[in-house]
Amino acid sequence: MEYTFNRSPFTGKEAKHLANVMKSGKICGDGLYTKRCNQWIEEKTGAAGAYLTTSCTQALEMSALLTEIRPGDEVILPSYTFVSTANAFALRGAQLVFVDIRPDTNNIDETLIEGAITDKTKAIVPVHYAGVGCEMDTICAIAAEHGLTVIEDAAQGVMAFYKGRALGSIGDYGCFSFHETKNYSMGEGGAILIKDPQKTDMAEIVREKGTDRSRFLRGQVDKYSWVSIGSSYLPSELNAAYLWPQLEMAEEINQARLVCWNRYFEDLRDLQEAGRIRLPVIPAECEHNAHMFYLKTADLEERTRLIAWLKEQGVQAVFHYVPLHSARAGKLYGRFHGEDRYTTKESERLVRLPMYYGLTPEDVGSIAERIHAFFAQK
Ligand SMILES: *Cc1c(COP(=O)(O)O)cnc(C)c1O
Repeated sequence: MEYTFNRSPFTGKEAKHLANVMKSGKICGDGLYTKRCNQWIEEKTGAAGAYLTTSCTQALEMSALLTEIRPGDEVILPSYTFVSTANAFALRGAQLVFVDIRPDTNNIDETLIEGAITDKTKAIVPVHYAGVGCEMDTICAIAAEHGLTVIEDAAQGVMAFYKGRALGSIGDYGCFSFHETKNYSMGEGGAILIKDPQKTDMAEIVREKGTDRSRFLRGQVDKYSWVSIGSSYLPSELNAAYLWPQLEMAEEINQARLVCWNRYFEDLRDLQEAGRIRLPVIPAECEHNAHMFYLKTADLEERTRLIAWLKEQGVQAVFHYVPLHSARAGKLYGRFHGEDRYTTKESERLVRLPMYYGLTPEDVGSIAERIHAFFAQK
């Protein structure tokens, strides 16, 4: 048996919904399916407004525009994240200030944020790694005290919660991903979530090329015009129609993923107890969504051997992120605040195991056996 690392979520109902859009003859954005998806997100998360975008990358770029980030402003984020978290703000001329992560969750260490704030700081961008919430109460309190905007990179956090609140709905803006590697997919896609009802109009304007076309379509203004800078962030109805049946089945997909995640955890627990590996930590405040299952080896050398061993055994396991502050662009556009105690070290130990909708607990059992065999070798 071969185990691929990821499969795009699929319900079997996508074709029917795609055909509906094609029959309607209207495949541009903001039709019936986009509205359904937006409404679903608003209901699930409690956001005042939610809008599908063409990617999470674009949702992050929108949030940078909405925050009015200007050249010379500083933005605080972890270095252990995907490039889009950083690009969105560097594109607006911001200086990136990378803060170390916590070794338990790989999330930004909230206790180090305050020390990284200067009079140029405009925003804090927590990334909910693996769908496990950052310490949002602390982060939002720091932001409120210093007048900063909080933008959640919740690309991995759809259907995950912190103290009962949906990830993406806690800060001023939240960004979801519906890329094919995420829990729910429209191929390429995402969404922006807006907390403050006063800010949804501006979000609609920025998303519609800086025009008030949305208000015009609702009959609130009698002609539409250029109001602000913006871009085209809305996806085609075809993409929204592909996503919709997955959102309808979100509880079921989420449960199936959690069953596999829990099976990994149970099957590998003895290796953690023997001190051979580290398993993910889920803080008591967090309800995660099994976006990812990872383990941590002793070091980089052991990780390289484990990945090669699993490959020989037909299991595709991968690692990610090379810390952004060590990359060429990271050095050009940012700086690391304080000491890199965990970012590099933890990133070098982490291995991601196969996890997707359609993986079975039995599959997980056999993958775990192969991991046991690796550690039994020596
Ligand atoms: C996937 C991901 C993104 C980018 O999502 P896209 O929809 O592909 O643009 C951004 N941030 C994080 C943390 C991600 O995991």
